[in-house]
Parts: sequence; structure tokens; C-alpha cells
Amino acid sequence: MCHCMIFLLELNRRMPPAFWKEPFLDMASTVWAMPEEQWIPDAPTPDDIIQLKKEASGDSNIDDGNLRSEMVRLWEVGGAVLRVKELPGRTRVVFLGTDEQWSQIPWALWARIFQAIDQPVGYTLFYANPTLRNFPTDPAEPVKSVHMNAGYSYMCQQKLLVIYRFEEATRVLLHELLHTACFDNGMGVEDLEANTEAWTEIFLCAILSKGSQRAFTVLWKKQIAWIEAQTLYLHTNHGVLSPADYAWRYTLGRHKVLIDKGFMNEIPSGLEVSGLSLRFTTPEWNI
Ligand SMILES: [Zn+2]
Repeated sequence: MCHCMIFLLELNRRMPPAFWKEPFLDMASTVWAMPEEQWIPDAPTPDDIIQLKKEASGDSNIDDGNLRSEMVRLWEVGGAVLRVKELPGRTRVVFLGTDEQWSQIPWALWARIFQAIDQPVGYTLFYANPTLRNFPTDPAEPVKSVHMNAGYSYMCQQKLLVIYRFEEATRVLLHELLHTACFDNGMGVEDLEANTEAWTEIFLCAILSKGSQRAFTVLWKKQIAWIEAQTLYLHTNHGVLSPADYAWRYTLGRHKVLIDKGFMNEIPSGLEVSGLSLRFTTPEWNI
């Protein structure tokens, strides 16, 4: 990392903290105090299958490795199961993956996330592709969507949300729900993604903390360590520097947004993280 960058990061860190986490903690306390909504298992319908196949057949500039169609092919040869659950009035989740993955989805947490956003989405299509987010093996290869993205939705539209990796699906769900709820609408795509991702991680940390200040601090420090290590690695080893680099929006751009909002002030002393990858959140969050 060049010294100019270190200097800029240090300078930014001296900005006064915004303490914007309080409204998120209040929101999380309120949401967890509400009656828990129950997911209702349902049998897949012909229309569910049509939706799954239709969505996987189109090209996507986000899922350019087409992890969606890989899951449909796997299901067609008996290597994946089709499962459906509905959260009445919120969404219908149509899933392709394994029964083990299905049982690992934190349904109560997902219900809380839908309660918190309070915006329905007709279909949540979940292609649980097990491919992990890894750095390109060749440092000269740019870090692109195929290495890091896992979902998409449409700004201010409540018809459809797509998740196509199993890894970190809960964070992806929340990030995409913020898009459907018009969060950060009107920004250029790089700043929009950097902001929405930063808010997603703060929001998720508050929900995981159930509104507890102490729990938030413990979880957020782990996330800071992950973000610092990942940012440094991407800058040093893959040359990610500015919004012109695709990976910037979700990594260095997110880092900058968090610094500007005062969320990177408590840098933990031991910054070592193990198993660094292109996951957006620390594996220690266990989601
Ligand atoms: Zn996004």
C-alpha cells in the first residue's frame, strides 16, 4: 500500500464519529420486541418452477458466471432439491440447493429482516450455489462480479429478488432488500453500491446484536478487522484503487463510506484475520 493512501486513511479516521449506530440499535430492539412472524412451508407450484427457470435462462451482467443455471441443471439431474416457504404478506422463497443448506437458513433472522425493512418482495428466488467468493488466482486478473457478487434486484421494485450463492446469503438478502426499498436511490452506481453495502453491514450488525450496544461493539470490531485486511490486500495485490476498478464499490468504496460516517474509529490492535476471502462480512459473524 502506498504511503499516500495510508495517510489518507489516517486523516479520515480523525474525523469525529457520527454515532449513527444509535438509530440502528433502536430499530433492532424494536424489531426483536415484535411478535415473531412464522414461515409457512409450501409445495412448489408449476409457476414457481417457471419463475426459477425463466430467471436462470436470461443473461445477467451481475451473475455473469451464471451460477443460477448451474443450480437448475443440477436440480434437473437430481443433484438439488426444490423447496418453498412463504412469510405471509412479505415474500415467497423458492429455493434450489441441498436439504442441508435449507436447514441452515436462519429463518427467524430472515423474518426479522423482512419485518425491519417492512417492504414485501413477491418472489425471493434462491439458487444456493456453493461456489465461494475467492480472489482471482492470477493477481493480474481484475476482481469482477464473478468473484464477489451473489444477488440482484431492481431499484424500488417489489416483484423479485434473486440470490445465487449460498455463502453470506443473509447479507445479500438485506443488501437487495435495501435496493427494492429505494435506499440510496439517485446516486451513481459505484457510490450507490458502496453506500448500500456499508449500511447493509451496519444494519445487519445491529440486528445480529438484537439492539445491544455491547454485542454490536464486539461484532463490529470483528468486521472492522476483516474490512481493513481485505481492503489492504485488494489494494496491494490486485491494484484496486478507484471507482474505475469494479471491486472498489464493495470494498475500498464501502471502507471510505464507513470512515466518513465514523464507523471505523475503533480499529482493533490485532488485525490478523484468518482465511481472508472476498466475503463481505467476517466469517466470525457466522451467517
Ligand atoms: Zn447492490
